[in-house]
Amino acid sequence: MTGAPAPRAEPLTVAQALAWAQAQGLDRLDAQLLLGHGLQQGRGWLIAHDDHPLPAAKAQAFTEGCRRRAAGEPLAYVLGEREFHGLTLQVSPAVLVPRPDTETLVDWALELLPTLETAQPRVIDLGTGSGAIALAVAYRHPAAAVVATDLSREALAVARANAQRLGLPVAFAEGAWWAAVPADARYDLVLSNPPYIAGDDAHLPALRHEPLLALTPGGDGLGALREIVAGAPAHLRPGGWLLLEHGWDQADAVAALLRDAGFAQISTRRDIAQRPRCTGGCRRQP
Ligand code: GLN
Repeated sequence: MTGAPAPRAEPLTVAQALAWAQAQGLDRLDAQLLLGHGLQQGRGWLIAHDDHPLPAAKAQAFTEGCRRRAAGEPLAYVLGEREFHGLTLQVSPAVLVPRPDTETLVDWALELLPTLETAQPRVIDLGTGSGAIALAVAYRHPAAAVVATDLSREALAVARANAQRLGLPVAFAEGAWWAAVPADARYDLVLSNPPYIAGDDAHLPALRHEPLLALTPGGDGLGALREIVAGAPAHLRPGGWLLLEHGWDQADAVAALLRDAGFAQISTRRDIAQRPRCTGGCRRQP
């Protein structure tokens, strides 16, 4: 066609954009996930179409995403989503990025649920953040009646939106740990991934993009775990279980808390990196 304006610059190809991102210091995988997300294509497509020219708007969104990632933002915030236990969850800086470690807690919960005496177990996820634990349990064990709490209104908005988008019937309550639910509320299974990093932990600066409230209760890191254990007997039906995620070096401390609170069958499970990550116990039958 005559008279068409000549392009001012050759558009970047997929391969050129990925090479550019790596030169900016991005991981190859992060770059592929960012570009694939923008183009709504998988990594296989990117490899098979490495000479595909990028529309200017896509190239610009990609370079902006790379800039944020290179500045240390978690990829999940840049993408706005994260996979957890087979669900795609939307995330924002108002919530902790769901971690594979926490799938250990969900797997344990899913093993326990069919063994409980009731066919319609009542489950609570204290400090739900994005809703990860509550939503995964509701998805995999539809008979469960799941409640999720958080102190942060912003976090609850993210969790609620995830529940709505995924069509999962989770109820939400705002408040600090047990204060979020009525004093006489009783559950068959209590789950929590509370903040457990010690206030002076050397890793906290690396997690600066995530909400501090979700990472550390300050002090020795056990404050939230203590509070949850202390209130649990009054909110668990006899025979019900409390499962807690904790730091790699906190299993003995959490087991001691559970013992002191009268729990039985206390045990610890390891995460995918083989670190002791979750400890739980059963409220004794009277
Ligand atoms: N597992 C997270 C981390 O170590 C901490 C999450 C939490 O405190 N619950 O990065």
